[in-house]
Amino acid sequence: MKEVRLRFAPSPTGYLHIGGLRTALYNYLFARHNNGKFILRIEDTDQTRFVEGAIENLIKSLHWAGIEYDEGVFIENGQVIQKGDHGPYIQSERLGIYRKYVDELIEKGHAYYCFCSKERLESVREEQKIKGLVPKYDGFCRNVSLEEAKERIAKGEEYVVRLKLPPNKDIKFHDLVRGDIVINTDDVDDQVLLKSDGYPTYHMAVVIDDHLMDITHIVRGEEWLPSTPKHVYLYEVFGWEKPTYVHLPTVLNKERKKLSKRHGDVSVEDFKGKGYLPEGLINYLALVGWSPEDNEEILSMEELIEKFSFERVSKTGGIFDKDKLDWVNGHY
Ligand code: GLU
Repeated sequence: MKEVRLRFAPSPTGYLHIGGLRTALYNYLFARHNNGKFILRIEDTDQTRFVEGAIENLIKSLHWAGIEYDEGVFIENGQVIQKGDHGPYIQSERLGIYRKYVDELIEKGHAYYCFCSKERLESVREEQKIKGLVPKYDGFCRNVSLEEAKERIAKGEEYVVRLKLPPNKDIKFHDLVRGDIVINTDDVDDQVLLKSDGYPTYHMAVVIDDHLMDITHIVRGEEWLPSTPKHVYLYEVFGWEKPTYVHLPTVLNKERKKLSKRHGDVSVEDFKGKGYLPEGLINYLALVGWSPEDNEEILSMEELIEKFSFERVSKTGGIFDKDKLDWVNGHY
């Protein structure tokens, strides 16, 4: 049987959010439950959001929480290092790899160069909004021939590369928590795959890396669900085996709102600083959106690994309740 491989793929934009820690935890629990591998990959393709020291912070928070991984980015002797034979695991060090696959998509007619200016895109969006339509790229550059595009690029014109989705095609995939999902390409944008700075977008990089790193299960927050059809389509055009998808309900506060800094603690650092024990926080977080069959509430990491399954992950938002956290933490 194929080895089970999961990854946690944060962007280095600040401290590890409590929702991110829960995503990492579920990935970790499932990987360990199945004697698989767990990988830490750093998704830093949006250079404008990069925060100095964020990679180190992420690693330290995971380590503090007791979430160990087998491959990826580590700290050794105060240095960020990478280990494993599917590297590099930092996306900004993989630009050549993405470019090769972007070129392959263009050659095969699944992607195209787009030269539209910011101003043009803006006015298209405005017009669509006025008409009450969901803003979407209007496909203006789909008609630029490859020959013309290459000439324009040679002359130094700026460009991006966009995914060329076929019209009116149903994209189907199965989510272990949400069941079968079907989305029509008419409702999906021609996603930018390669930006004008030569960096791929998240959508391109995530598909290439998950494939090349042999990831079998993609477990992430439900905010990525609308992006998944684009990813599934890419797997299809490359002729690659699709991974299993799991989209987790968002971690919400008691008012059913997203956890935000304004309303209290949101990062692992905050809880660590207030004296919470990693075992208590992990135990409680596991229960935010999941419960074991026996409804036991005090569980060690070993017990969580033994009992964890996606069948018991809830479809709706997991409520993060500070009082309940304090109660669980009090048992450690
Ligand atoms: N880099 C994305 C994030 O920061 C990861 C999404 C995914 O797991 O595919 O959330």
